[in-house]
Amino acid sequence: MSNFNYPNFPVSRLRRLRKTSALRDIFRETHLSKNDFIYPLFIVEGGGVKKEIGSMPGQFQMSVDNILRECEELENLGIRSILLFGIPDAKDAVGSNAYHENGIIQKSLREIKRNFPEMLVITDVCLCEYTSHGHCGVVENGFVQNDKTLELLAKEALSHAENGADIIAPSDMMDGRVAVIRRKLDENGFSETPIMAYSAKFSSAFYGPFREAAESAPQFGDRKSYQMDFGNSDEAMREIALDIQEGADVVMVKPALSYLDLIRRAKDNFNVPIAAYNVSGEYSMIKAAAEKGWLDGERVMLEVLTSIKRAGADVIITYFAKEAAKII
Ligand SMILES: [Zn+2]
Repeated sequence: MSNFNYPNFPVSRLRRLRKTSALRDIFRETHLSKNDFIYPLFIVEGGGVKKEIGSMPGQFQMSVDNILRECEELENLGIRSILLFGIPDAKDAVGSNAYHENGIIQKSLREIKRNFPEMLVITDVCLCEYTSHGHCGVVENGFVQNDKTLELLAKEALSHAENGADIIAPSDMMDGRVAVIRRKLDENGFSETPIMAYSAKFSSAFYGPFREAAESAPQFGDRKSYQMDFGNSDEAMREIALDIQEGADVVMVKPALSYLDLIRRAKDNFNVPIAAYNVSGEYSMIKAAAEKGWLDGERVMLEVLTSIKRAGADVIITYFAKEAAKII
């Protein structure tokens, strides 16, 4: 696409198509739709719990009964996809509650699917919410052990599928986990359950508020030995290519806003659906600025969500899903 193919001014006047709202609307290239959104939910044990997350105004930790109310509201708003994060009562070194039949996610899946069979329920598969040390895998000698972690992730994924998960979303960033999970699902009769892989997941300061929401902050060190360095773009493409080879049906770039170039690069390079995670910090900073009256929160939200879609995301995981659905 070269500008030299276009006639010059005054023949060419791009402002002609910007003159009225009808002109602008009909020639707009990117439109948000309710079908673009996946809404994340944080589930805790107990009953009657609905506790606002301090650093994420408007987002809550909820017990299953309130999650069901939330699903009803989401359906009424036209949002049909949710992503579940579980916060167990008890944690241990190997994250046992991640793959327990009566773990928080397993119980919630059964309840949600029984009451809302049409809801597309995606489950985050990782160990960090369930381990006492807060890392995404098995720790030995202060290091997260890749291959020992794979076994547990596959167990967790299978247990989610058995309890009704529609899509499995591994977020741990261990090497080879998509292949191991795919094999485990296939061997157990879940060959039709898709995998949405957190493929290019960066070690990011934008996750700060999420760690409060999911109570998953690492108790020592950081996640830089498995999550990606934010300076890297070629490596992100390698991660995505490997996940596709291993059987990922959807690949993800996370976070979204500081990584729009990677969303676009992934879209141009791979013919698979691209998901983008508009993460907690991206949400919180808009909320905070809007609260202070420094930004028009609603307009900034729409601009940000549109930019993620324009960059090439086919679906957007976002805490703004409900707010956006009300105005688009
Ligand atoms: Zn994790």
